[in-house]
Amino acid sequence: MQRIIGKYTGDKPGPLIVITAAMHGNEPAGVKALDLLFKMLEVEPITRPGFSYRGEIIGILGNISAFSQQKRYIKKDINRCWYPEYIAQLLQKDKNDLRDEDFEIRDILDTIGDEIDRLKPSRLFLLDLHTTSSDGGIFCIATDEAESLEIAKHIHAPVITGLLDGINGTTLHYFNTHNKKIKTTAIAFEGGHHDDPLSVNRCIAATINFMRAIGVIHSDDVENRHDYVLQQYSNHLPQIVRVIYRYHIQDNKKWQMKPGYKNFQKITAGEILARYDGEKVTAPCDGLILMPLYQSQGQDGFFIVKEM
Ligand SMILES: [Zn+2]
Repeated sequence: MQRIIGKYTGDKPGPLIVITAAMHGNEPAGVKALDLLFKMLEVEPITRPGFSYRGEIIGILGNISAFSQQKRYIKKDINRCWYPEYIAQLLQKDKNDLRDEDFEIRDILDTIGDEIDRLKPSRLFLLDLHTTSSDGGIFCIATDEAESLEIAKHIHAPVITGLLDGINGTTLHYFNTHNKKIKTTAIAFEGGHHDDPLSVNRCIAATINFMRAIGVIHSDDVENRHDYVLQQYSNHLPQIVRVIYRYHIQDNKKWQMKPGYKNFQKITAGEILARYDGEKVTAPCDGLILMPLYQSQGQDGFFIVKEM
């Protein structure tokens, strides 16, 4: 299996766009979406002779070993590993000595680094594609940077802010603040349930909307027939929400989420949401539930968000 899912070089100079998929190995929708997106980009200049693309876009498979075993991760969650000290150590080590997620992260960084060295772009934009274990999990995650929020608003899905304050070591954390080589703007997109075939369409639509928001293609280039799936879904949902609470799980085996919770479902203070080690877990406040955990790996039980 290859690290690079696809690559497209435009006819005009511009930024480098990196789209990552399957940072969690059990999330294949983003990989399928990128595979289709690069095929669409290849035929675009043929069907539309005036088509022009600024810069380069590259699709990267995040956790190859977990992806090939259909697991979320092998030893550790890549999306909780991007601590600057740890990354600095990884970059010092002999790559041949690295195993599992250590190797994956190092190889992702080397792959992006090679592109930066070769293209010397003035800007880097990163979109990290994910899916969720619960239904209705379609949203964008913005960093605290103004441009990240601005781009996220163009994806046509609810935007979550403040998520990165409560957790650490996500890909967005690193590429927002610690990727010193080049000015970088990053967002993440959650495309829906892991197994919903429409999650692939939504990941394609998000990627095209991302390219349009950055301005590397014209707004009428690359027919975005998948966008209606996003727009329809987001119609009745809040546009921007802020995370006000996160439930952290020490031991996933003791976690039992009450069945049936959907993303953005209203919950009230005191409502029983789950059991941890047999004990009731209740909502500490009113709000909307986000990412209730229905899978056997992961440390975030649920988040509570409020409309802005
Ligand atoms: Zn994920």
